[in-house]
Amino acid sequence: MNYNTRQKTEVLELLRKSTHALCAGDIIRQLPDVGSSSIYRILSSLEEESLVSSFVRNRRRFYSYTGSCSHHLHASCSSCGTLIHLDEEASRAITALLASRGLSINEDCMISIICPQCMKKEER
Ligand SMILES: [Zn+2]
Ligand SMILES: [Zn+2]
Repeated sequence: MNYNTRQKTEVLELLRKSTHALCAGDIIRQLPDVGSSSIYRILSSLEEESLVSSFVRNRRRFYSYTGSCSHHLHASCSSCGTLIHLDEEASRAITALLASRGLSINEDCMISIICPQCMKKEER
């Protein structure tokens, strides 16, 4: 380990508390004491450890804490980036429905949705 464990904990805590997926730039701005190259290193290490998962949107990579999330699927709002933890029942139903058609969800891949707040904004 060539980076500081405390910095790693700071990045993990920031992602854990955030209701939105954050891009590396957001994390760098919120943790100015941690250098940007450290942040990229920490993010890839957290991802390898399956504590964080990422997806790409508009050519930017966004990160979310999914460390205690092995039993359900995630959806993320394609408009505001809010991460939604689907309950286990819904996750099972979606997985089973796809499996019945010979399909499976890529573990890294979030289901892309529009959240209720953004839906309301669009209706206005
Ligand atoms: Zn979750
Ligand atoms: Zn939204």
